[in-house]
Amino acid sequence: MTRGRYAPSPTGRLHLGNARTALLAWLDARSRGGAFVTRVEDLDRARVPAGAEAQMLDDLAWLGIDWDEGPDRGGPFAPYRQSERTARYDDAIDRLLAAGRAFPCACSRADVARAAQAPHESDEDGPRYPGTCRGVPPDQVRARAAAQGRAPAIRLAGDGARVDFTDEVHGPVAADPGGIDDFVLRRADGTAAYQLAVVVDDAAMGITRVVRGDDLLRSTPRQLALYGALGLAAPAFAHVPLVLTPSGERLAKRTRPEAVADLRARGVAPEAVVGALASSAGLRVPGAQLAARDLVQGFSLALIDRRAAIIDANAAILRPGT
Ligand SMILES: [Zn+2]
Repeated sequence: MTRGRYAPSPTGRLHLGNARTALLAWLDARSRGGAFVTRVEDLDRARVPAGAEAQMLDDLAWLGIDWDEGPDRGGPFAPYRQSERTARYDDAIDRLLAAGRAFPCACSRADVARAAQAPHESDEDGPRYPGTCRGVPPDQVRARAAAQGRAPAIRLAGDGARVDFTDEVHGPVAADPGGIDDFVLRRADGTAAYQLAVVVDDAAMGITRVVRGDDLLRSTPRQLALYGALGLAAPAFAHVPLVLTPSGERLAKRTRPEAVADLRARGVAPEAVVGALASSAGLRVPGAQLAARDLVQGFSLALIDRRAAIIDANAAILRPGT
């Protein structure tokens, strides 16, 4: 049975880009007669404002997106909040450490930058880890970290494997030529890294199809490597185009994207928002107004426009009364 999910991080309000990804993930699951799970990715708790999760779930429900399991309604794989699943992440890390597939690392960010030979292809990931602590006895690493007043981070012992995969939207995706590196699984502050948490959770929750934004396409080989290292079956992946600002920027707090809550407050109907999202994905003509459930029949990811969507804050379609 198909099991899809939407896994929002409630560090801000649900914007149209989040809403579009959620809608596409939901349509993919529902059009296959599958279950849909909402999981809250709130590991970065310091950045989660009070009430943000409830608002986000309420905005999704207002759009007509429903879920069978989630933090508000429970389910067989509860809890559905990452902040409540720490023990599961630690278990997975312990298994990797015991199997020699992970190692402790006492390096600070500055240490890694200083020791790195060549910058990693992706700036977001920072420089490629040069292997400083690999092969060093763990006790020595722990002592070095303790001397600096912290616990060691835990890194995957990357094997340099090149992980190619086939994405349901992008088709064949070639591996990073550098292969799988020694990426962080648990930070020095004890927080599980996104890569580890998402793999542990999707596997534990029986997710068969991961539909998410294009910005995570580059994370997928690392996650596939983790599925392999943990002996878990990987889901199918589909990375859908993001919504960009008219100047081509990703929606982020800095770009002040219009939140679904703002549209609601302005009296915009959910059918107008769903229609705008559907037309941005090439599923309906511009100006369409319809309920999310009206898009389920006949939906396929093969039908969506492969280009990034541009949401113009001044688009008439998102004004009330149109
Ligand atoms: Zn290190």
